Amino acid sequence: MDETREALEFDVLFVGGGPANLAGAIHLLNLARQKEMAIEVCLIEKAETIGAHSLSGAILDPVALQELVPDYSAKGCPIEESECRDEFYYLTRTGQFRVPFTPSYMHNDGCHIISLSKFCVWLGEMAEELGVNVFPGFAGTDVLYESDGNRIIGVRTGDKGIDKDGHKRSNFEPGVDLMAKTTVFGEGPKGSLLREVGKKLGLFEGKMPQVFETAVKEVIEIPQSSSFNSSATTVLHSFGYPLGLDTKGGGFLYKMKDNRVALGFVVGLEYEDPLLEPYQAFLNFKKHPLIADIIKGGKVLQQGAKTLSAGGFYTMPRLAVDGAVFVGDSASMLNIQRLKGVHTAMKSGMLAAEAILAALEKDDFSSATLAIYEQKVSGSWIKKELYAARNFSQALSKKGFGKFITIGAQYLSGGRGPVDPMPIEADCTALKTLVSRTASRVESPENQDLDGKLYLDKLTGLYLSGTTHEENQPCHLKIPNPDICMTECYEKFRSPCTRFCPAQVYELEEEADGSRRLKLNPSNCLHCKTCEIKDPLENIIWTCPEGGGGPKYSIL
Ligand SMILES: Cc1cc2nc3c(=O)[nH]c(=O)nc-3n(C[C@H](O)[C@H](O)[C@H](O)COP(=O)(O)OP(=O)(O)OC[C@H]3O[C@@H](n4cnc5c(N)ncnc54)[C@H](O)[C@@H]3O)c2cc1C
Repeated sequence: MDETREALEFDVLFVGGGPANLAGAIHLLNLARQKEMAIEVCLIEKAETIGAHSLSGAILDPVALQELVPDYSAKGCPIEESECRDEFYYLTRTGQFRVPFTPSYMHNDGCHIISLSKFCVWLGEMAEELGVNVFPGFAGTDVLYESDGNRIIGVRTGDKGIDKDGHKRSNFEPGVDLMAKTTVFGEGPKGSLLREVGKKLGLFEGKMPQVFETAVKEVIEIPQSSSFNSSATTVLHSFGYPLGLDTKGGGFLYKMKDNRVALGFVVGLEYEDPLLEPYQAFLNFKKHPLIADIIKGGKVLQQGAKTLSAGGFYTMPRLAVDGAVFVGDSASMLNIQRLKGVHTAMKSGMLAAEAILAALEKDDFSSATLAIYEQKVSGSWIKKELYAARNFSQALSKKGFGKFITIGAQYLSGGRGPVDPMPIEADCTALKTLVSRTASRVESPENQDLDGKLYLDKLTGLYLSGTTHEENQPCHLKIPNPDICMTECYEKFRSPCTRFCPAQVYELEEEADGSRRLKLNPSNCLHCKTCEIKDPLENIIWTCPEGGGGPKYSIL
């Protein structure tokens, strides 16, 4: 589309309004103020408002927050529950076994329970007060490079007002070129811009393959009389049922304010059973007596889904290139051993801010100067934490009880374990092909006893995520080779996209002549990106839909 686009110039552009970039922008402005430097900073976020695409457990280790806002309680940081008292369970189908000791890395002493969406709103307001130009509703869709090289010079936001067939509607607005001396990519897991930069600049060369997990989460209002309200326990983690020990994953339940709990179930995306449905696993977990008793009589207030980067230290990409740096989950900085990435994301944003300030002072934004950020990460507690957990994701992927031996060996050897580095054996696109014996199971998926209030089907859950998109826009899910969907993919795996997607974006439809076709409902998309990660034929590419579309999380 040959439009004359507006170009806006900034010193620093943050792409993504998650904790990594919000902390980075706040820290940068604070540092610039101390040095009496006037800088122009912009932050874009694809959600309609800051926090609306933020979903996390969320147990916050306040280590980075304390550094960023030492008086965070006095400044009104939205904390749901200030103390974490943990219980850790192994679940069988109908019973549970409380693990008598909780490994030190699972202890959450000193941490708080928060809602990540509320927390991001709070950080966003602080960033705006400091003078950051915060633009929600703008999705970065293209990376801008210097014409004769690989230096990143900014990001183009998506056009608005294009119809399904690619024609301009009456409300057409061309995207804007946001030019910056340094761009900070904090798109969270599986960033769509990072994918392109990664390929072009070889960011992941020599690194282990990326590993992801996906999760469905709800906030549930429970009756005041629920025993959990009066129990001292505020944090409950589980493993075992319904996945067993061969598939990575587990559940969590955290106490929130006002008789609410956060309930979620995480599934490692290296799972091999093409019939596994993470949403169904979440429902099964929810119906386990341990959980069902706590939430009995309750009502789901909000539901959502998101992936997380679980690979850790050995999967981290190069962190700095000419004109840009990569922070948070985009740079694979989540500590999967602790199921925590908010603190590492925030700290990485802050370290990036320090390096960028030094680059601004030198007026040099080359990779050599921005590599100060990489050095700062290496010298910080981020490296220490992630290095201690460097083989954890691999050990957790081991099948059966063998994983506990490997995990134990690592625990005793400071993260080393029997081999270091431990190879990542299964990638996220791994799926076993179906045998005809199991094929019928998937034709009639069971969604038992859903009451529309506490136990929801996907579409009711989707409604409670507040997801909306402009319907008349080009499909943001690109299927490069549609021909293989109903041949190779259906024959081998029975169209697993219809199961791994938590929002019924992908549906099998039967035509009058008995043939099948794959129908896409892109407006249902929760932006979790599970489809791009888990598609066994790597035939789905997730791109940003029109800015402002997607979920409207406010308490997740
Ligand atoms: C179910 C679940 C439970 C978790 N539990 C915990 C926990 O208990 N404790 C903990 O510390 N961590 C937890 N995490 C991990 C934690 O949420 C992440 O590590 C953290 O949010 C990463 O922050 P980030 O800023 O890097 O990315 P994100 O929080 O993902 O933020 C990225 C932002 O960028 C936006 N964006 C993406 N692409 C674009 C684009 N092209 N243009 C504009 N905007 C864009 C997104 O909409 C999003 O708002 C959990 C995660 C999940 C999914």
